[in-house]
Amino acid sequence: MNVKNASLLLVDDDPTVLGYMCNILEEHYKLTCAESAADALVIASSDHQPDIILLDVNLPDMSGYDVCNALKNIDVTRDIPVILVSGRNEDVDFAYGFDMGAVDFVPKPINSTVLSVRVRNHVRLLRKTQALKALAHTDPLTKIANRRRYNEALIEEWRRSMRSKSVMSLIVIDIDDFKLYNDNLGHGKGDDVLVQFGEILRYCCKRNSDLPARVGGEEFVALLPDTDEQGATQIIEKIMKELQDAAIPHPYSTVSDMVTVSCGIVTDYPVKGEVPESMFRRADQALYRAKSDGKNRFLFCDDNKEVAQ
Ligand code: GH3
Ligand code: MG
Ligand code: MG
Repeated sequence: MNVKNASLLLVDDDPTVLGYMCNILEEHYKLTCAESAADALVIASSDHQPDIILLDVNLPDMSGYDVCNALKNIDVTRDIPVILVSGRNEDVDFAYGFDMGAVDFVPKPINSTVLSVRVRNHVRLLRKTQALKALAHTDPLTKIANRRRYNEALIEEWRRSMRSKSVMSLIVIDIDDFKLYNDNLGHGKGDDVLVQFGEILRYCCKRNSDLPARVGGEEFVALLPDTDEQGATQIIEKIMKELQDAAIPHPYSTVSDMVTVSCGIVTDYPVKGEVPESMFRRADQALYRAKSDGKNRFLFCDDNKEVAQ
């Protein structure tokens, strides 16, 4: 397993210790150094997050234990493994460090073999965890996010939008007359359509924060943080245009010669007292109306205006 691309944040107020650790680790990893707890917290939460943090326990502005505890209480830094580097090597010190969320200890004075092997092991473990997580979050057919990932993301985005009082949109998309497609042209051809539509969805959900996902057999969603009605309309129009341009023949469709979709959209400012699933329910109701109104169209949920104001 390649550990070369891993990035480490080394935190110690003693430049000599930092220099010593850099000498041992620089050949294999991308290193960033911080000499205070405050700097470490800023770097750990930045866009250039480290894969692993090596953290001195005795820092001038805050103890390493408290930094570790703080990192474990921030959503974006919670999953970064922290290895404490410390001259305090009593049982109680280890126990306290592990309680604060550290994954390992490297005792001071630092032994170069112990340091490099512990870091290598944690990088390998991290890479395996990341690979398993990606697998657990990916739909094997279309390679976009699956229902599990979507459920997690909906809750995360709902909470984030509530905190930042921002708007979010959810589009639920269902392929029209797909049973007729499968029954007449075969399941294999049907799978090809799902893959092609997954690609279109991914292509149209361009922002990093957008989440295209396959949530059921022929049902997809686009979860769109910081996106209002106008933004959601642009995206769904683009999706439907791309699908139209792909012109996938559907000789058995009751509404067109080509594969089409129906969509329900909800745009909302999440508020306390509501549950994230209510967003899906409301988008799904709009989808149901789009189906009964004749398919091959998108509709916003009935109370969208009221909620979005
Ligand atoms: P509507 O326009 O009302 O959505 O009708 P529909 O036929 O698309 O919907 P219905 O729910 O009756 O049927 C969904 C069909 O989707 C049933 C099945 O043939 C197909 N399907 C579900 N999952 C898969 C899959 O993984 N691969 C393939 N090829 N087809 C699937
Ligand atoms: Mg369906
Ligand atoms: Mg369908």
